[in-house]
Amino acid sequence: MINVTKTFFPPVEEYTKFIKRAWDNEWLTNRGELVLELEEKIKKYLEISNIIITNNGTVPLQIALKLLGNRGEIITTPFSYVATTASIVWENCIPVFVDIHPEYFTIDETKIEHSITPKTTAILATHVFGNPCNILAIESIAKKYNLKVIYDAAHSFGVKFNDKSIFEYGDVSTCSFHATKIFHTGEGGAMITKDQDLHNKLYFSHNFGHNGPLEFYGLGINGKMSELQAAMGLSILPYMDEIISERKRVVDYYNTNLDLEKIQVIKIRPNTVWNYSYYPVVFKSEYQLLEVQKALNDEGIFPRRYFYPSLNTVEYTNGGKMPISENIASRIVCLPLYVDLSLENLKKIVSLINNNIC
Ligand SMILES: *Cc1c(COP(=O)(O)O)cnc(C)c1O
Repeated sequence: MINVTKTFFPPVEEYTKFIKRAWDNEWLTNRGELVLELEEKIKKYLEISNIIITNNGTVPLQIALKLLGNRGEIITTPFSYVATTASIVWENCIPVFVDIHPEYFTIDETKIEHSITPKTTAILATHVFGNPCNILAIESIAKKYNLKVIYDAAHSFGVKFNDKSIFEYGDVSTCSFHATKIFHTGEGGAMITKDQDLHNKLYFSHNFGHNGPLEFYGLGINGKMSELQAAMGLSILPYMDEIISERKRVVDYYNTNLDLEKIQVIKIRPNTVWNYSYYPVVFKSEYQLLEVQKALNDEGIFPRRYFYPSLNTVEYTNGGKMPISENIASRIVCLPLYVDLSLENLKKIVSLINNNIC
């Protein structure tokens, strides 16, 4: 069976070497040495100055919205994983959707200002598939209207924009280290800010608000990563360059062999060093998508309809109409993309697609 992704497993000896340290220390959580070491190594690898790693990629969204959303209206994208929208509603904020750009698939920055009201507190946009939003335009809108900017950068580990880690933009960026993501700790995630005061607030918020054992800075929740999760991250991080170059091999193969006259592929924003995290293709119609999907499924190949449905149509959102997002969501699938995906299988995937889009 070929799925859209296959979790990367490091050699088990390398994983157990880190796990052994947890045993030796008899220490499993509350920011033990493996968590601290993973934070240091990620900072070095991504060339960023600060990071807090967490138990998954959703809690950091919730914490950021709790601190910056202020129960207001949050301008957001309808084209993302459901966690983006659900976190807004979960934090008692109101999602206000703005349609997406038809080629980049990120929020259409030219439509943001129109949706701002006196109740707007923040913009929560996703660098979907690791493709950066129009960061500079969003920054200037946020400045003009005094709004906070949170980036859901769940797909963006290793992405650079204008020679800087994508995580360094916005007030806060969040990431997911879920097993399906490009860098993972089984379950896990991170939040990143360059603002030291906000960093301190994010930090105490992810640890019940603690200021030492007896005092509290404020309200908090449990967002801590465990030593067992950190061990997985520490044993995968040394493979990141290899993981990204393997994924580039697959993306290059698709780009040269798929019939790109008949299907649309993502346009990566200029000045981006991309991480090859997903390979979305947009068919001419949902009907054609379903035909191709069936042909692939019959051969044991299972692409995923990332992202469907458009989030403005989810029942708890009152999302209005988002014609571009709804249209793209009905026609898009992500093709299999992972380390070691064989040339033989790539040939099979490509010919099944090309033969079914005539
Ligand atoms: C995966 C994902 C999340 C949630 O991350 P978890 O680690 O699964 O909690 C949030 N946003 C987007 C866009 C994602 O793809």
